[in-house]
Amino acid sequence: MVSRVIPVDPFDLIIFGATGDLARRKILPGLFHRFTVGQMPEEARIVGTARSEMDNDAFRGVIRDSLLEFAPRAAEQTGLLERFLEKLSYVCVDVKGDQGWGDLAGFMRPDAVRAFYLSVSPSLFGEIAARLNENGIATPDSRIVVEKPFGHDLASARALNASLRQSFDEHQIYRIDHYLGKETVQNLMALRFANSLWEPLWNSTHIDHVQITVAESLGVEGRGEYYDRSGAMRDMVQNHLMQLLCLTAMEPPSRFQPNAVRDEKVKVIEALEPVAPSDIVRGQYRDRNGEGSYRDHAGDPNSQTECFVAMKVNVGNWRWAGTPFYLRTGKKLRARTSEIVVVFRDPPHMIFPKMEKHRGNALIIRLQPDEGITLRTTIKEPGPGGMRLAEVSLDMTFADALGSHAEAQDAYERLIMDVIRGDQTLFMRGDEVESAWAWIDPIIKGWEESETAPVSYDAGGSGPDDALMLLHRGGRRWREIEV
Ligand code: NAP
Repeated sequence: MVSRVIPVDPFDLIIFGATGDLARRKILPGLFHRFTVGQMPEEARIVGTARSEMDNDAFRGVIRDSLLEFAPRAAEQTGLLERFLEKLSYVCVDVKGDQGWGDLAGFMRPDAVRAFYLSVSPSLFGEIAARLNENGIATPDSRIVVEKPFGHDLASARALNASLRQSFDEHQIYRIDHYLGKETVQNLMALRFANSLWEPLWNSTHIDHVQITVAESLGVEGRGEYYDRSGAMRDMVQNHLMQLLCLTAMEPPSRFQPNAVRDEKVKVIEALEPVAPSDIVRGQYRDRNGEGSYRDHAGDPNSQTECFVAMKVNVGNWRWAGTPFYLRTGKKLRARTSEIVVVFRDPPHMIFPKMEKHRGNALIIRLQPDEGITLRTTIKEPGPGGMRLAEVSLDMTFADALGSHAEAQDAYERLIMDVIRGDQTLFMRGDEVESAWAWIDPIIKGWEESETAPVSYDAGGSGPDDALMLLHRGGRRWREIEV
């Protein structure tokens, strides 16, 4: 399938924290890919800023090395690396000081789209937003891009939003959750709202339950102390898993327009019922083969922070009453995988002999690895010998179906181009973030008050036994985390 590349308007993009991990690993490789496919116009310009003293050439050297490491195919095969690097310049700015702001102001062109990517600690967001305004760098049409974490709880999220809104309107603020930039996540919307097939089935009459799994095979080695201050609930559930839940459960918006889509997502979060303590499992991985336990990696032998959560969530509205959503995320599990599994109810009356290990119809939406969609169906087992049933998968891996185009796109490159286009559909609105915290806060407070400890689980497995029991209690079982 040939994809159309529509160039965006000329832009001036300032990246704060341009020498940091995120900028070098994701943002600049993403921009480079868009350049190589012709989506970035010749007039586009990118300025990197950070506190380190360096000139343009030194900065280009840093980014050249990053692109060779994180976008090697494009860097080596397209012959466009040096032309892309010419678009980059560097201004030394300590966000808390006065140096550099005048240079940035002088750099901006009146007719180009202005975007500011804040790839720095959230504690600097308010300061940067204010300085951009005071120095006349921001205009009413400029866009400001911020990265998670969007707060630590409801109060801090409100404070963060308020500090940004002092200088920027909500229509200018782009809060990135890179899960929303994944091809499959958008395909979930296409699947639901561009096909008439699913909508009649997309409710509690036909869907038994939904499983949302974001499993990681790595532990928290190297960043354990930082992670230990947040945990899986804040780091994963509040943002990525909630977004996947919203897109699966939301009503069809009246238009595919940013606020229409986000209004429907907020309604889902507001319909979430409080979760009973017995419907949540928290876990920490144990040591295996001397690799260290979660507590070893966190540097705290008494840590109570969870690096695994499984929970049963009820969406209290007409569409979903009686259909639970099971969420699961954790570190050091069998494999790195993210998927949404929509499990349909069994036929009301079975006329065939019951299959062993019958799992029934399920729609599996894979986000990683191998983005794609699978429909598990029941057929007759081929051959003579009576009517025996078997399960087969109708499988569509996007890379196979759509060719290299589907493979090459990273979530970040799509989202950055959306910023330049001024399309906020795939970004979180302030009230969405605050609603999510309003639902999560009491759960975390309950843990703190009850002082119950997380249960431990084997590294490299599927999580604690209690998480398996969470589904078994309802006569269900998790889809195996596939290696
Ligand atoms: P990082 O590697 O620590 O980089 C921070 C960057 O900010 C560096 O370029 C640093 O350069 C600059 N900086 C720090 N203090 C500054 C100041 N006072 N004034 C100007 N520049 C300053 O951090 P990161 O991992 O890239 O993360 C950046 C943001 O993205 C964070 O909010 C993080 O939570 C979020 N995030 C990161 C990832 C990821 O995969 N890395 C994923 C999701 C979200 P100097 O020291 O030279 O100033």
